[in-house]
Amino acid sequence: MEVLILLGAPGAGKGTAASRLVSRLNVRHVSSGDLLRQAVKQGTAAGKEAEGYMKRGELVPDALIGRIIADLLAAGGADAKYLLDGFPRTVAQAEMLERVVLGQGGHIRAAVVLDVDEAILIDRLAGRRVCSKCAAGYHVRNMPPKVADVCDACGSALVQRPDDNPETVRNRLAVFNKQTAPLIAWYRERQALARVEGAAGTADDVAERIVQALQ
Ligand code: AMP
Repeated sequence: MEVLILLGAPGAGKGTAASRLVSRLNVRHVSSGDLLRQAVKQGTAAGKEAEGYMKRGELVPDALIGRIIADLLAAGGADAKYLLDGFPRTVAQAEMLERVVLGQGGHIRAAVVLDVDEAILIDRLAGRRVCSKCAAGYHVRNMPPKVADVCDACGSALVQRPDDNPETVRNRLAVFNKQTAPLIAWYRERQALARVEGAAGTADDVAERIVQALQ
């Protein structure tokens, strides 16, 4: 098993980059946020537990998301290659991931951090729209769909995420700085960190820089 991690603040472009890297790197995209939103939608026990945290822009408990990710990795088999988007988000999650991956004879190829200024993050989150069905991401100005409010990929309605409102966004950015940013030093210490400029150019340019950083 091989695991590549995308680190970055909310709005840094992890999902957008991941959608472009899946075929280039031949990896399976695993978005912890999408998995949790799906669980909430389906009303599973995990979804019910996660919902309140997500609404407030807080992290769900490490054990809850850790179990979901560990089960998914265990089911993938020895040859699977994963691109994790949104996990790990705390040092405890990173430690748990390392245990699970090494325990299955796999390795963590790198953690790529997407660097984006806070003013740009806020603008991206305010204009973000997501497909209500397939979770594809858009931006009203930077990355609009061909037909307003309709997903190019599956034709379903685009919606604004409930946690993309200004107050929750402020909280999510504060949570990132406090709980997730320490992972940058954590992966640097393990010589596994790659830093990539996440704002300049197009989404394809960002994906290209990630591929180059992994060479
Ligand atoms: P995202 O789509 O990655 O922005 O995640 C949306 C929300 O899901 C976050 O604000 C958290 O409430 C929750 N979430 C996603 N991934 C994690 C994680 N690794 N640890 C804790 N909470 C998470």
